[in-house]
Amino acid sequence: MLLSITTTYQPATDLGYLLGKHPGRFQTKALPFGNAHVFFPEANENTCTACLILELNPVELLKSGNNHFDGGFQLEHFVNDRPYVASSFLTTAISKIFGSALNGNCKERPGLAETHIPLVVDLPCLPARGGEALIRKFFEPLGYAVDVTQHPLDDQFTSWGNSPYFTVRLQQTIKLQDLLSHLFVLIPAIDHNKHYHMGREEIEKLLDKGGEWLKAHPEQEYITRRYLKNRSALAQAAITRLAGEDEQAEPEEQENLKERIEKAKLHDIRLRAVIEQLKASGARSVLDLGCGEGKLIRMLVPHGQFEKIRGMDISIRSLQNAQRRLNLNDATPAMRERIALFHGSLTYRDDRLQGFDAAALVEVIEHLDEARLDAMEKVLFGHARPGTVVVTTPNGEYNVLFEGMSEGKFRHSDHRFEWTRSQFQAWCDRVCDAHGYQAEVLPLGDEDETHGAPSQMAVFRQL
Ligand code: SAH
Repeated sequence: MLLSITTTYQPATDLGYLLGKHPGRFQTKALPFGNAHVFFPEANENTCTACLILELNPVELLKSGNNHFDGGFQLEHFVNDRPYVASSFLTTAISKIFGSALNGNCKERPGLAETHIPLVVDLPCLPARGGEALIRKFFEPLGYAVDVTQHPLDDQFTSWGNSPYFTVRLQQTIKLQDLLSHLFVLIPAIDHNKHYHMGREEIEKLLDKGGEWLKAHPEQEYITRRYLKNRSALAQAAITRLAGEDEQAEPEEQENLKERIEKAKLHDIRLRAVIEQLKASGARSVLDLGCGEGKLIRMLVPHGQFEKIRGMDISIRSLQNAQRRLNLNDATPAMRERIALFHGSLTYRDDRLQGFDAAALVEVIEHLDEARLDAMEKVLFGHARPGTVVVTTPNGEYNVLFEGMSEGKFRHSDHRFEWTRSQFQAWCDRVCDAHGYQAEVLPLGDEDETHGAPSQMAVFRQL
């Protein structure tokens, strides 16, 4: 099976640096299920194409017990489509052969991994029983121009109709890492087959490679289910985690699937709105206070405007997860200078918080005891004093619209309050008066006529 990736970025041969493979060499690596070859049929200033060929050996597969057929049809062990189609074998090969590119690292040209470059991917044979519509439904929302050709099973003498095999070309100006992570998740989801046993580690892989973009994908649930081969317990767990929640949440707190998806979408809207405000403020240095697992930071990274990004959280565990999800351990020195995490609390005066253009507190204030808010205000608006502060918090009035949420309950067990719109406005006014800021309060998410939007955001500017 073959995968080819082409760029016309100049100089196009930079693709070799990005993939960590020399365009002048033919390289072979043995994988448990066969040999993977990488070569560049074209490599010049203007155009460069990298090919990955995977030679599957069905006999080796059978011997190693690495066999995905559970039916009783013995010949199928040897005669099947696996050697010829794009499947989880190919995506496993991508992760083994182009692992650093998939993780967004590029040792020789650190800035390059962050650059959006024109890329074309050719998959000569993608099995898709869901048809062309499925291929488009999965790739198009991610911004790809998609060309699909279906192959007939028959020739002119037979009438077997179409095969479920497609030649697919995807084109987009995009970061190579994003492209590889889309392929990593969507190829097996389209093929709907996996060559290995599905365990909980599959959820980690899915969240690691798909966590950011999958949350905003209209087919999020369908992709998750197909990637996890319809193992419903795994899919449920993954969807819960995509919604940014703890999988071990108490059962009564686990809303139905629809609500969880709504939550994930709302969080995405919220983060995008915060980024817009930070961009518009002209900030170059940004603090993410209560950064959690680093979702906002991950989304800030592609924006070169933000030269210095710092995340702080009171939870060491969240910081460890953020460190891992941001790949900071493997990051280049330049990247580590740009992005760093530190442990601290918003309720203690801290000199490390001084000297920043902007700070964001996304869904954080409602985790503080109301009695400690006063301390946080002094630390942030009195001592740290960023030029811009963006704060988001739930709008408690909206809760009545969440099905299955009992009256008087909060959206999360750790929330200490969920303010109405007027309570939030009053708090903003008080902070502004006390510390010399002005604030604008904006709704987040679709607004209900009576209850307002599900979430709210205040943008404070120092006077
Ligand atoms: N901003 C993140 C996480 C929100 S959850 C996001 O939008 O995804 C709230 C976060 O605030 C948690 O990670 C929690 O550990 C952190 N937090 C709670 N109290 C804090 C305090 N006093 N100082 C710093 N962080 C705090």
